[in-house]
Amino acid sequence: MTFDTTGLVAYVNGDFVPAGEASVSIFDHGFLYGDGVFEGLRVFDGALFRPRDHIARLGRSARALAMEVPLAPEELLSAVVETIRRCGLSDAHVRILLTRGYGTPGLDPARCERPTLIVAAYPFPPHLGTQPLKLVISSVVRKAPRSLGAHIKSLNYLDAVVAYQQAKAAGANDAIMLDHLGAVAETTGANLFAVFDGTLVTPTTRAALPGITRRTLLELAAEQGVPAEVRDIWPMDLYAADAAFVSGSGASIVPVGEIDGRPLGSAGHPLLDQLVAGYRARTADPRYRVPIEEPVTAA
Ligand code: PMP
Repeated sequence: MTFDTTGLVAYVNGDFVPAGEASVSIFDHGFLYGDGVFEGLRVFDGALFRPRDHIARLGRSARALAMEVPLAPEELLSAVVETIRRCGLSDAHVRILLTRGYGTPGLDPARCERPTLIVAAYPFPPHLGTQPLKLVISSVVRKAPRSLGAHIKSLNYLDAVVAYQQAKAAGANDAIMLDHLGAVAETTGANLFAVFDGTLVTPTTRAALPGITRRTLLELAAEQGVPAEVRDIWPMDLYAADAAFVSGSGASIVPVGEIDGRPLGSAGHPLLDQLVAGYRARTADPRYRVPIEEPVTAA
């Protein structure tokens, strides 16, 4: 599979360069050790969706690793907007990558003089399909609080990669990962929600990324008077949910059709339809959007 970067421009440490030629050193600690953090955000119909929330989360991920973000949040937002503008994209996925930087090999972050900051954007369809997902429960335990917290969106996704491989080998679309206690955490790259008797339930962020789509859905539930709970979900309970779906900036909201071969009635569930409609409306709501064609103004 080739990835066509024709016409795409990337921001690398202050410069805009053709994305196909953008590179980092083989001595970048992000490459050597996965010593870095990132964000994945979306452009819907010419505007970034909740970019300031993503930039704030990047800041928290970086702070947890004592990594400096070389630009102030609004400067970083301007760099993101400018990258997308130069790419000429109106529906896109955007990555902000921040690594410890170039330095003599060795774990000590002090060997790196300055961080590497990259913004890359590429076309992405506005909302992914609604084909219900087949999920399996992975044997790979999600990053746990006493290891590398799952709330740090770091360049270490190997647990997710291996779980994803397991899912594909089992003929499924993706894997659900459990936490160190055996409770449901999230899927490899999205948060998980379940519906029990009209109540929306999602796991805590003990071992799940505090997703911005997850937050949006919890806000929508509160506004729409949908009962919602953030609590542990155990695999056996999940098997018996009325509906389940995954949420993420990339995935949007996708129903879960079966888990470990057990069918779920997620597709067409009224609560799911209501939340999908609410989410789409939110992605079109000017309060949450930063347009690409206009200069960035303060929030
Ligand atoms: N969990 C993981 C592991 C992810 O990689 C993502 C996607 N960034 C999410 C959840 C969903 O987060 P968000 O809604 O902020 O995209």
